[in-house]
Amino acid sequence: MTTNELNDVWNKCLTLIEEECTPLAFNTWIKTLTPVSYDKGLLNLSAENEINRNLVSKRYSSLIKHSFNEVSGEMPEVEISLKTQEENKQGSRRDPQRKYDNYTFDNFVVGGSNRMAHAVCAAVADAPGMVQMYNPLFLYGGVGLGKTHLIHAIKNYINENYPEIKTALVTSEKFTNELVDAIRENRPFEFREKYRKMDVLLIDDIQFIAGKQSIEEEFFNTFNVLYEANKQIVITSDRPPNEIKTLEERLISRFQWGIQCDIQPPDFDTKLAILKNKANEMQLQIEDEIYYLICENANSNVRELEGALNRIAAYKSLVNRDITLELAEEALKTYGPRDISTITTDEIIEYCASVFNITVNELKSGNRTKYYSTARQVTMFVIREILGMSFPKIGALFGKDHSTAMYAIKSIEEKISADPMMKVTVSDIIRDIKNES
Ligand code: ADP
Ligand code: MG
Repeated sequence: MTTNELNDVWNKCLTLIEEECTPLAFNTWIKTLTPVSYDKGLLNLSAENEINRNLVSKRYSSLIKHSFNEVSGEMPEVEISLKTQEENKQGSRRDPQRKYDNYTFDNFVVGGSNRMAHAVCAAVADAPGMVQMYNPLFLYGGVGLGKTHLIHAIKNYINENYPEIKTALVTSEKFTNELVDAIRENRPFEFREKYRKMDVLLIDDIQFIAGKQSIEEEFFNTFNVLYEANKQIVITSDRPPNEIKTLEERLISRFQWGIQCDIQPPDFDTKLAILKNKANEMQLQIEDEIYYLICENANSNVRELEGALNRIAAYKSLVNRDITLELAEEALKTYGPRDISTITTDEIIEYCASVFNITVNELKSGNRTKYYSTARQVTMFVIREILGMSFPKIGALFGKDHSTAMYAIKSIEEKISADPMMKVTVSDIIRDIKNES
């Protein structure tokens, strides 16, 4: 098989394998493999490191073998080798990592709207589990206001300053997926062990756990074990516990044992400080009046502020001129309600993926867990709302037919009328994309 043929077969295999494993497993172990050769019935793939190699050999070689067979008609033996350092450097096929490692207290700008949240998070990071009043810490607030940033900052701070303290940070979606996998593979014990031996458990976006009884049950038990051992628990959510509609009473009451702290949208000065900080990180030289222009026009969502800076930076490199007020205005021309014809489906999909904290691939994948399907349904709904596209066309964007799109949109309509927070989430997304204030 030539290299091109092999690459082609392998890409088709990836599509099949993706259906069969969790997004996390797929992105971490499968996508990072490189096909090296197929010769005399032996398929050689290279892995990034020893751990990946062992894991893939043990758990995935049969899946790889069978998908290869399905695509090419040949039934290979699978051999996993190690990539050389050089090959590793050339970059893997991994999706661009979200920049979690950069989420620290140092690059979190403190202002009136988040001062309290920042202080409590810092206190927890500094003495995890030690301050009973702050356990659990429940941090909540709207989209793009810095919850994920802060919860990662806590973890990063602890890892750096107290390397012996064991921390686990997961999104509730990941917690759910892992648990479901563990149960399916008959090793729930392993799952429990893993989380119950942590000193600090941090869960981002707990609202997505709500309503799944068996998962809530498991989480409840884990919570109790950790709490009783004075271990620190940190939780974020887009709303306070008692407003998470389907969350079990007993969990709500647990969350209220410690401290609940909200993050508000940033005021003008905080927006300004955040922008300056970002511009600095990006090494962009910008006049004050341009900052004012952005702050006055942008919504309060910090992600939007970053987007504005990115647009200016991109525009600057495009026209290769210094950033003047005129140039900024030009770059931000899209301010004020946008001309709908300039909005693309790709852009909507990307934006929705970022709101749900997943990659575009994950959003478009066939994964049916509730978190992903909700994200997908919201995206379809938003596309329909903004672009008025037909159901078959919307379905096609996700490799589905018109009935799936129709069902998705109807189901979001129902959720919106039943759940005020869903209504806010969806209308915020639409407003942000259209740039309405
Ligand atoms: P959330 O989880 O609340 O939706 P994120 O933590 O993902 O929001 O924040 C969105 C983006 O805005 C991130 O890139 C984050 O680094 C940035 N951000 C939010 N608040 C601040 C802040 N106070 N200082 C610096 N960056 C911030
Ligand atoms: Mg978040």
